[in-house]
Amino acid sequence: MHHLLGLCCTICGTEYAPDEVEYVCPRHGNDGILDVIYDYHAIRGEIAPGKLAASPERSIWRYLPLLPVDPAIARQLSAGTALGSVGWTPLYYAPRLAAPLGLKELWVKDDTRQPTASFKDRASAIAVVKARERDAAVVTTASTGNAAAALAGLCAAAGQRCVIFVPRTAPQAKIAQLLAYGATVLLVDGSYDQAFDLCLEAAEAFGWYNRNTAYNPYMSEGKKTAAYELCEQLWERGLAPPDVIVVPVGDGCIIGGIHKGLRDLLTLGWIDRMPRLIGVQAAGASPLVEAWEQGLEGWEMRPVAVHSIADSIVAGLPRDRIKALRAVRETGGAFVRVSDEEILAAIPMLARGCGVFAEPAAAAAYAGLVKGVEQGLIGAAERVVVLITGSGLKDVGSAIRATGCPPIIPPELRAVQQVWECLA
Ligand SMILES: *Cc1c(COP(=O)(O)O)cnc(C)c1O
Ligand SMILES: [Zn+2]
Repeated sequence: MHHLLGLCCTICGTEYAPDEVEYVCPRHGNDGILDVIYDYHAIRGEIAPGKLAASPERSIWRYLPLLPVDPAIARQLSAGTALGSVGWTPLYYAPRLAAPLGLKELWVKDDTRQPTASFKDRASAIAVVKARERDAAVVTTASTGNAAAALAGLCAAAGQRCVIFVPRTAPQAKIAQLLAYGATVLLVDGSYDQAFDLCLEAAEAFGWYNRNTAYNPYMSEGKKTAAYELCEQLWERGLAPPDVIVVPVGDGCIIGGIHKGLRDLLTLGWIDRMPRLIGVQAAGASPLVEAWEQGLEGWEMRPVAVHSIADSIVAGLPRDRIKALRAVRETGGAFVRVSDEEILAAIPMLARGCGVFAEPAAAAAYAGLVKGVEQGLIGAAERVVVLITGSGLKDVGSAIRATGCPPIIPPELRAVQQVWECLA
């Protein structure tokens, strides 16, 4: 079995046995997000850096002793399926991006290379295994698009039914993924926040297994695997952990998960200091930046109206706000905001600088890196990792807005010559 000891409320600190509560702290309702607690002593007996280095498993499942799932079910579902390809995404060295910023060392963690092309596969993979542990007939989630696509794709890999709630404004490519994977798709005529609340209600009414971000405590546990991977990938090259990790933030589950992964590694003694976490939000959807600037706690935040081209990070009341604020405060990090213009400009800059094509929310991390350097939050000699969380193919309209359209020419060599001379 797994090494779960219990679940601990992020508001009141009450601890529950793993089978005592399913999702949130009963005393705090939907705000009572839980932390997952492990038996690190037992984990140490099963996994160590040396053993890991020799592991042939190149996916999140290489960290099975550190995950909150039944290992037998995880192995069975992931063997030879798309579930078995989640994680262990590449970490690229990016000197041509680093140089203009005056940075010595920059790394790009490329999570566009997941089975459904976003970071969300890390969490949805855990949800599919948990649902099978419970023999759930249906899994459900609300999503701005990527969590839904991830759940739909990995459910398809496992032959599991799912019901998805997305705002009707979600980009076409993400909706197309849902439909192609065979999910039951409900396009909600409302915001992501409204879709989220409706999904919670439906899950309760119909007894569906609920994957919702920052409601299901196990989603952070899938997301934390990116922290393990990037530290391991730097070790492989004989390098110490990063000084700074830059993360795009909507609900805050990714940054909270990265923080959890790093805390696991510190507790296990595999790293000896905590990297600083820098969270990036779109200027039109930056409630966490504001809360951080004003010294507010997560439970003091109220919903605000939000808008940005970076649909995956638009949340008016970030669901994982407590963990997100903790991640930045406890690591001595920062929050920064970037405008939609900066996000759009970052798409071709990142693609040209290292060959990674990002959707707006993911490019926001790179725009945030630029801003963080400008604001003096990142030092020239520091080792920096920027997390690229979703593929540019998810939203080609935004990419083309940033790049403009190429010339249309008649099928004649003369026309090629004219264009070429113009360029030269
Ligand atoms: C979901 C998502 C994010 C933000 O993650 P949160 O956990 O909501 O903060 C960033 N980028 C992409 C591409 C995403 O899909
Ligand atoms: Zn509580």
